[in-house]
Amino acid sequence: ILALGLETSCDDTAAAVVLRRGDGSCRILSNEVWTQHDDHAAFGGVVPEIAARSHVERLDATIEKAVVKAGVDYADLDLVAATAGPGLVGGVMVGLTTAKAIALAHGVRLVPVNHLEGHALSARMTEDAPFPYLLLLISGGHTQLIRVSGVGKYDRLGTTIDDAAGECFDKTAKLLGLGAPGGPKVESAAVGGRTDRFALPRPLLKHAGCDFSFSGMKTAVREAAQSLEDPTPQDIADLAASFQEAAARHLAHRTERAMDLMPEAKRLVVAGGVAANCAIKKMLQQLCAAKSWALIAPPPKYCTDNGAMIAWAGAERLAAGLAMEPEEALGLAPRARWPLADPGEGKRFGSG
Ligand code: ATP
Ligand code: FE
Repeated sequence: ILALGLETSCDDTAAAVVLRRGDGSCRILSNEVWTQHDDHAAFGGVVPEIAARSHVERLDATIEKAVVKAGVDYADLDLVAATAGPGLVGGVMVGLTTAKAIALAHGVRLVPVNHLEGHALSARMTEDAPFPYLLLLISGGHTQLIRVSGVGKYDRLGTTIDDAAGECFDKTAKLLGLGAPGGPKVESAAVGGRTDRFALPRPLLKHAGCDFSFSGMKTAVREAAQSLEDPTPQDIADLAASFQEAAARHLAHRTERAMDLMPEAKRLVVAGGVAANCAIKKMLQQLCAAKSWALIAPPPKYCTDNGAMIAWAGAERLAAGLAMEPEEALGLAPRARWPLADPGEGKRFGSG
């Protein structure tokens, strides 16, 4: 299955071409990402209106580049996949509408994709990740533990009750004056920092279940930052390192609980932008080693938003017989909210 994938749900304009072979293996033929960080830098956060306009300006060229680099023709494609939500609806509309146009102009099948399913299946592009596995999805807008039993078969075991992990990294970067993108800035600032200088909370330590909470940590980081008058680079390194350690510890602690709910899985997959973080991966690696589980972590460029994971999710859905019917797909409206899995109700995205 040769798939073109478009991703425009936040501040990255991305397009990629991937090939899914009959045996389930993947070849990424191109992966173009145009990040908008500079467009939003002056505003201290992503401005939806600017994001949508930037997608309009850059998506065509990004797609063209991806198709040319892959050395394919539109007519060779088996499908065009696009993020249909969740995300900033203006941006999603740009990508989905462009995909509809490509589908109609070239007679290619359109497969709308849930952005979170893109993250959920991303590891299967580059790693050996058979089902079932436990997924720790840590991104800018989500922090969830999900049982992945197959394509379209997702059960949520836990979610954040307040902020997402990535959001907390971004807020910490802002407080420390490090700028955007927050996650990578905090990670590099933490190099050479002491992880034990600031005592940060250990959220939900005594709570059952697999939910997360980051708002207390965010407040504690703000208070610690304010307590520093005229912070030295060492102060900033220490606070960044202390926060990163506290976040990693919290993620590992809740993940351990979820592991106990599906002991047969033996495989933990991390995905989403925060999964690019080495300190977090190291902590999860230790946890997995102690439990004789395998940790499966895709390369950083497939953790943050990219078109390859959208193309891949489209191909996985088509291969599994779960792709939306063409008429329904062409009429689909973008969705700002679109949970991948609801707890308890057995309602699963696209499985029936
Ligand atoms: P969602 O996928 O929930 O809709 P999103 O698409 O905006 O949100 P991603 O692109 O998957 O999120 O991830 C972006 C987030 O990952 C940002 O919050 C960013 O700070 C964080 N991030 C990226 N790299 C790192 C890193 N090295 N360490 C920690 N966090 C990181
Ligand atoms: Fe994302």
